[in-house]
Amino acid sequence: MARYIGPVCRQCRREGMKLFLKGERCHTEKCAIEKRNFSPGQHGKDRKPKIVGYGLQLREKQKARRYYQLLEGQFRNLFEKAAAMKGVTGDNMLNMLERRLDNVIYRMGFGTSRAQARQVVRHGHVEVNGRKVNIPSYTVKPNDVVEIRAKSKTNAGILAARDATAHAPAPNWLEVDRDALKARVLSQPKREDLVQIQLNEQLIVELYSK
Ligand code: SF4
Repeated sequence: MARYIGPVCRQCRREGMKLFLKGERCHTEKCAIEKRNFSPGQHGKDRKPKIVGYGLQLREKQKARRYYQLLEGQFRNLFEKAAAMKGVTGDNMLNMLERRLDNVIYRMGFGTSRAQARQVVRHGHVEVNGRKVNIPSYTVKPNDVVEIRAKSKTNAGILAARDATAHAPAPNWLEVDRDALKARVLSQPKREDLVQIQLNEQLIVELYSK
């Protein structure tokens, strides 16, 4: 599966905000946004372009895509599905992004970043309703039970991630049992559950509707 393998903190610096892509490092003074909060590149420090119109829409889309660690094609596909659903397209899109299995593992605290959570899924450590699922884009629904598989419950990386994220509360739509390494999906995620970054999803809808 294709994935982004370039410099990660550069993505945050391009968007001018923390996107929390590197786990615990994001909460320390080593974070590149704390040290160098200006655009990457040779002239990044000098240039402060005024962004309007299409540029604003593009930046908002890139911000969301990078936050959820998707490639352009994956993000576009998800948007098309959201647009074909009933309801408000922007809300549908965020709902589908949040309900991806890799994001759910991240929200449960069993990966310190979405990249690590995705690896936990890809390596076959997760089951949904008692069946192994190793597809990061798998979409959970209310009443699903997501659990670290029995043979992986002693996995050092997963346990370390759980301990490292002990301070981070799980969102209201997940009932997480951290000791049992499992969670039940209580409801659909709500807009206010996107607590870490500000997103204007309407700009993304406008961009893709051109
Ligand atoms: Fe790097 Fe995390 Fe800081 Fe972003 S928030 S610049 S990924 S350390």
